[in-house]
Amino acid sequence: MRTIRPGDRGDDVRDVQRRLSALGSHLDSGELEGVFGPTTESAVRAFQQRRGLLVDGRVGPETWNELVEAGYRLGDRILYLRMPMFRGDDVRTLQRRMNSLGFDAGREDGIFGEGCDRAVRDFQRNVGMDRDGIVGHETLQELERVRPPTDDERSGATLREVEALRKMRASLEGSRVAIDPGHGLQDPGAVGPSGLTEADAAWLLASSIEAELRRRGAEPRLIRTGNEDPPAAERAARANRWGAEVCLSIHLNAHTDPRAEGSMCLYYGHDSATSQAGLRLAEAIQDELTSRIGLTDGRTHPMTITLLRETRMPAVQVEPCFVSNPREERLLGEEPFRRDVAIAIVHGVERFLGARPSGTGSGVAGGGGSGAAIADAGAGVPSDEGAAPGVADAGPGETPPEGQTRLPA
Ligand SMILES: [Zn+2]
Repeated sequence: MRTIRPGDRGDDVRDVQRRLSALGSHLDSGELEGVFGPTTESAVRAFQQRRGLLVDGRVGPETWNELVEAGYRLGDRILYLRMPMFRGDDVRTLQRRMNSLGFDAGREDGIFGEGCDRAVRDFQRNVGMDRDGIVGHETLQELERVRPPTDDERSGATLREVEALRKMRASLEGSRVAIDPGHGLQDPGAVGPSGLTEADAAWLLASSIEAELRRRGAEPRLIRTGNEDPPAAERAARANRWGAEVCLSIHLNAHTDPRAEGSMCLYYGHDSATSQAGLRLAEAIQDELTSRIGLTDGRTHPMTITLLRETRMPAVQVEPCFVSNPREERLLGEEPFRRDVAIAIVHGVERFLGARPSGTGSGVAGGGGSGAAIADAGAGVPSDEGAAPGVADAGPGETPPEGQTRLPA
């Protein structure tokens, strides 16, 4: 293209002026008919300054490209990974939104590259869409729905539970609580010294929790039957399809050291994104299990295991005891103990629901207040150093880096 400069007239000048006006520049009406006069020149200079271009008041190829890119608003066109890559402010906005929601779209450079593609697919999976990587109407609608509550796009909130939070009740009454009894027939999990399997103990605990929730007016549901062992992704999908408001996955911990004991709660999180709602749910449950029953505190831990990652409501994996500990294994076999554990967990869920901000606060953009609930949660991830519960006196080398967490299958 030729460089358009002060003094020029014509359609290409008019095109430049139209783009500058659309970006908010004020041009003298006498120039608007395609005359490159002084106000057009100062608008070009201001634009160049803003966009980090050489400021010369002329529209050469670079400034022209930048004008074109600046003109795109998210939704103007369908975005996806292609060659040459899409460039523009719509891509930049998309990258900023993805990053703010915890999906790593990389540098916000306005270029739809592989990082952006990955983030989009990740996002799509998290909201239950086809992972086609195409940012069209549907994906934009989902993005709009989970929009953070302020223009500060850097809130770091994760979105996975936003939708569930929006629908969630403020009490147990009528709340849909999915309960996932860990393991099953094919993979019974850890086995205690007297032969109690993790699968059996989890099933018994899940049944107690279900009964307690029902007694308290909630709507609980086990997401597997007694004789199946669905993969974690299927368990998560069932909780999603049912529209659960909270998901509790029940496992038992295990360790080669039989002295290892106590309770631990896992929620979704990694270096750059944490489910704040999951964290609060985990802390409420963990607090009840340790203070109400006196179980040793193995604390809460962020994890990215499938069930926590793929469920869209606040979800935790509760491991109230070590099935490998002879005393705790015996307790797990006793109905009153299981009921106590169930009551503690249900209290934790109740506290979580009750403590949730109502979400009707003012100034929340994008409809619904759930985003505020997440953004306001504030609390950081608890530090994770040190040994896990009850084995402070275990021999050197006994405790793996992640405490004594036996990574779930
Ligand atoms: Zn397990």
